[in-house]
This record gives sequence, structure tokens and C-alpha cells, in this order.
Amino acid sequence: MADPMNIIVLSRNSKLYSTSRIVEAGRERGHTMRVVDPLRCYVKISAHRPEVHYKGQIIESPHAIIPRIGASVTFYGTAVLRQFEMMGVFPLNESVAISRSRDKLRSMQLLARKGIGLPVTGFAYSPDDNEDMINLVGGAPLVIKLLEGTQGRGVVLAETNKAAESVIDAFHGLKAYFLTQEFIKEAGGSDIRCFVVGERVVASMIRQAKEGEFRSNVHRGGSARAIRITPEERSTAVRAAKIMGLNVAGVDIMRSNHGPVVLEVNSSPGLEGIEGATNKDIAGSMIQFIEKSAKQGKTRTKGRG
Ligand code: ADP
Ligand code: MG
Repeated sequence: MADPMNIIVLSRNSKLYSTSRIVEAGRERGHTMRVVDPLRCYVKISAHRPEVHYKGQIIESPHAIIPRIGASVTFYGTAVLRQFEMMGVFPLNESVAISRSRDKLRSMQLLARKGIGLPVTGFAYSPDDNEDMINLVGGAPLVIKLLEGTQGRGVVLAETNKAAESVIDAFHGLKAYFLTQEFIKEAGGSDIRCFVVGERVVASMIRQAKEGEFRSNVHRGGSARAIRITPEERSTAVRAAKIMGLNVAGVDIMRSNHGPVVLEVNSSPGLEGIEGATNKDIAGSMIQFIEKSAKQGKTRTKGRG
């Protein structure tokens, strides 16, 4: 057993499956686990002694911090995490990496730069470029995605160029950023979630869209089961997490006829679906990674960048 540590889980709700599993896994391994709501943390910024306060009390430096920061609180949550990093606390995922992963476009550019397979993707600002946006990705059928969507909401399959133009017009009318993307038909409505912990895929599951739907999100009625992935898929997932600078990541991959393509990299991947589908103790893997890696002052960026 590793030396007992004080570990803080930054999460809005201790009753969430993922949060409570992480707490349970830590306690099983002899650590002191505390859940802290990032929105109730406030910080004292001063040159020599950065502090984080919580509900009237100063928080003593823990040995490690596990950020579970939801997309809707990224700005404030990463600021709090950065403050802990300035105190030298080891974060399971660093604030800069989380911010980076929350920008879909930036993430795709970073992955593309390092040669990771991606669906061909277009992005434009002006409605004058609508037609080119469609042609850029090979015309219909194509996928149009809101940049800020989650759980499959805001992801549309346009079967004809006419339909694509209408959707693009509608998104422009809403002043929303979106991208166009090659439709990976051959994936047959499935994608693969690879759960990466420290350069290893510790679990993987395939999600299949329900009949008549192309989006495999569980929120859209998709179902999940464990799957063995290929070595190429494994290395793609590990490399994608590494490029993003994430120790823990949910990397979503589709099987295209030009090899595995990465759809997105999630910095706070949920545990419920994948622990359920694979029967693996993923929360335990996260704690073990911290036991191996957490050292005071060993945070890579100390909140820089
Ligand atoms: P979200 O962040 O809302 O989950 P995704 O980009 O992951 O958005 O898309 C949701 C789902 O739609 C994916 O899990 C996948 O099943 C399907 N999908 C997304 N992009 C494509 C594509 N280019 N080709 C085929 N299916 C896609
Ligand atoms: Mg998704």
C-alpha cells in the first residue's frame, strides 16, 4: 500500500456516480478523501502565499487534487484548480489541459498537427462561405455540429446539400459557431470510448446508436458494451490524451475506412457507463496513478500558461 494521502475531489456534487466512486476507491486504498465544490472555493492571490478558502476556512494543501469540472463551470473551476497548482499541489489533470480540451476546434487543430486521424472538418465565419464549407468536407451526406454542444445535442446529419444549407443558415441566424464534418457512414452509428489513465487505455467500450439514429450518445438512446480495441486504436487514444496534456481522458474514436479517427477528447470522462459496461475498477486506476505520480511541487505547469 502507498502512503496515505489527503486528496481533494473538486466536484459540484458528491452524490454523482463518478465522484462517489472516486471517493470510495481512495478510501479503500487508505487515503483521506474530501469533496469540495469548486464554486464555493475562493482564492487569495498574493505574491508569496497563494491560498484557497472554502466556506470560511483556509484549505490546507492536499497531496493531490482530482478535478471533476463540468463544462458549464470551466472558467471558474479551472481558476480554482490553477490556484491549487500555484500552491504546488499535484492535479490529476492540469488546468491548462482542461481548458485546452474544452475548445473543440483548438483540440482538433492540436491533434491534427501531430498526425492524429480526424474526420475531415471545416470551419468558417462568414455566411458567404457556406457553399465552400459543404464542399470542403466532400458534400452531402455531412455532419454539422455546434461548437458548444454536448450529449449529441447540436449534432445534425444533413443528407443533401440543400438540407445542409438550411441547417447552416439556421445556425448562422442563431449566431452560433459550428463546424462541418465528413460523415463517417461506415461506423454504422457506433463509436468507441477509450478511457485513458497515464499512457494506458484502462477500459474501452463501444456505443451503438439506437435504430434509425446516427448518434451513439447514451443520452440519445445509445447502448454500450465492452470491446477489445486494436493496437492502432490503443495508440491513437494514448497519443491523443498525451497531446492534450491529459493524464486522464475519455477519447472517443470512430472506425472509418481511413483508420481510427478521433471525435473528441473529454477531460472529465464519466465512470458510470464504462465501469458498468466493463466491470473494471477505473476509479481505482485513477487513485493508483496518483499514488505513483503525486509529489509536492511536481505539477508540471504550476498554473503557468
Ligand atoms: P457531443 O459532444 O455532443 O457528444 P460528438 O461530436 O461526440 O458530440 O457527436 C455525437 C455523436 O454523433 C457521436 O458519438 C457519433 O456517434 C456521432 N457523430 C459525430 N460526428 C460524426 C461523424 N463525423 N460521422 C458519423 N457520426 C458522427
Ligand atoms: Mg460525444
